[in-house]
Amino acid sequence: MTRTLDIGGRIELLPMDAHFCDISIGLYRQENAQGAVFRVHTYSQREGARVRIDSVKRAMRVLGGMEETPEGLLRFPCGAAHLLAVKRLFLEACKQGMDGEVSARPLTILDKKSGLHISATVGSDGVYQITADREESGAERRVRLVAGGLAKLGELEKVKGAEDRVRFNCGAAHDALVGVLLVRAPNVRSVLRELEQAANRGVLAAPSTQN
Ligand SMILES: [Zn+2]
Repeated sequence: MTRTLDIGGRIELLPMDAHFCDISIGLYRQENAQGAVFRVHTYSQREGARVRIDSVKRAMRVLGGMEETPEGLLRFPCGAAHLLAVKRLFLEACKQGMDGEVSARPLTILDKKSGLHISATVGSDGVYQITADREESGAERRVRLVAGGLAKLGELEKVKGAEDRVRFNCGAAHDALVGVLLVRAPNVRSVLRELEQAANRGVLAAPSTQN
């Protein structure tokens, strides 16, 4: 009897890794007693593929504030899945090379369209307040757009009655993760389109067609 490793359901796929021999890399989700856990996996038998998987996992820990379990799986300290955010984090981590230094993203971005610096600051209640560095006409609108972008990209909840405040449904702070999402938040539309394309690829590429 052959035993297959139960790796969980695939939630995201990088079809061709530009940093390592065009292998495909998948992100799989499982549940354990502590909550949602994620496995970065490739079916590639190439020498060095293991090292590449480790480098993607390391990037997800640094860029997303994830922890590694003794079994080599990744999880958020809060135990929640944060599904949309973890998919985004995975794709960002795959963009990192194998030997480059990876560091957490800042919580302030330059909004190219307005020239404003827009920041996310977390309070003790896990609520992220979005602010701009200048009070000028249009600044409020850009702040609202960035808060709305974060909400969409990371499935954050909007705080009732405050369009510049968002929080994760677990109530915890996830600074590193917010840093990854914040960069993309002003361009939320194009990012969502990219995610949809990735999802379509995930449906089309069966495991047997992967190298
Ligand atoms: Zn959480």
